[in-house]
Amino acid sequence: MAERAETAFRSGYAEPPAGRWAAPGRVNLIGEHTDYNDGYVLPFALPLRTVVAAARQDGPTWTVRSELADEPVTFTADEVTGPGRVTGWAAYVAGVVWALREAGHDVPGARLAIASDVPLGAGLSSSAALEAAVLAALVDLGGLDLPAEDRPRLAKRAENAYVGAPTGIMDQSATIRCRAGHALFLDCRTEAVEHIPFDLAAASLAILVVDSRAPHRHADGEYAARRATCERAADTLGVPALRDVSADGLAAALDRLPDDETRRRVRHVVTENQRVLETVDLLRAGGIREIGPLLTASHASMRDDFAITVPEIDTAVEAALAAGALGARMTGGGFGGCVLALVDADRTEAVAAAVTAAYSDRGFTPPTIFTALPAPGATPV
Ligand code: ADP
Ligand code: MG
Repeated sequence: MAERAETAFRSGYAEPPAGRWAAPGRVNLIGEHTDYNDGYVLPFALPLRTVVAAARQDGPTWTVRSELADEPVTFTADEVTGPGRVTGWAAYVAGVVWALREAGHDVPGARLAIASDVPLGAGLSSSAALEAAVLAALVDLGGLDLPAEDRPRLAKRAENAYVGAPTGIMDQSATIRCRAGHALFLDCRTEAVEHIPFDLAAASLAILVVDSRAPHRHADGEYAARRATCERAADTLGVPALRDVSADGLAAALDRLPDDETRRRVRHVVTENQRVLETVDLLRAGGIREIGPLLTASHASMRDDFAITVPEIDTAVEAALAAGALGARMTGGGFGGCVLALVDADRTEAVAAAVTAAYSDRGFTPPTIFTALPAPGATPV
């Protein structure tokens, strides 16, 4: 990917870049719809990544090319004075420039060329990978003082306020702060992170990621509805967020909720937070194989209580488990996206074949399947 970005830069700008910066896609191992409830998530970085080749150019002007777009986009300081002036894919780049300038940084003008093997819109966070790679490039080119722990918040601001996508802090934290062989335990309330050993290779395990290829059905509206239900329930319970309902306090909390649907939504969030904590405990103790049942329980909770899975996703999970996966679950916001399965390294092909066969039986568009080991976060390459 680094070579592709380099080539795109040289052919686009007829000069060599000053450097190349990579940022990975991510999957969330466990902890779904917990982020906006101030809870816990546990993502890890994928070997798939976005690479930006870049060099300074004179004046406050930025030119950006992507392999995915025919034409380069150029914008000047005037177009990054307020959110939303640059639209389309280049808004993610302009948003980073805007957020840096808003934070008082003297952002150098730059030419950028982007290459990526993170699939777009599959829930693997190509948007945060793009933001993080551009951010790393601009910080290094300008010699800006912005430590890694402050970067996720800035990239998130680019996406929330400039692009206008209401995401949490997980994606940007994962792509910037993850480490190879580790998952990133993130407390979405405090934004504190901890690197948890997740050395799949050493345990002769792998994560299989299945891109369901399911069309996103009403995902935005359903997401907003789940979020509103959770916020109303927290209000009813008199807590700042559902994170404040403990697993021990769940039964009492459910008794105070008005209807069965709200009770099921709350039960998902509270038990899901608990499953993240139990997964972290197991991983800390070296029990990597034992997390499988927690992954599978998370899936059942998303399917039955939170009602965010679709037939393609449930089919992939069931087929993976039947073929010997130690655990499997949907990952991401739901209504499509990806499934992950924890499998013995020597079973990856058999499990992948079983999922593909189950898809074919049901007449679904064939899935895309790849193996993932926890990769490093954003870095010059
Ligand atoms: P996800 O982050 O799950 O992949 P999003 O909808 O959040 O999905 O972000 C996808 C968008 O990010 C794309 O539609 C595009 O605008 C932008 N994007 C991501 N990667 C690239 C890239 N390599 N080149 C151009 N635009 C990209
Ligand atoms: Mg995204």
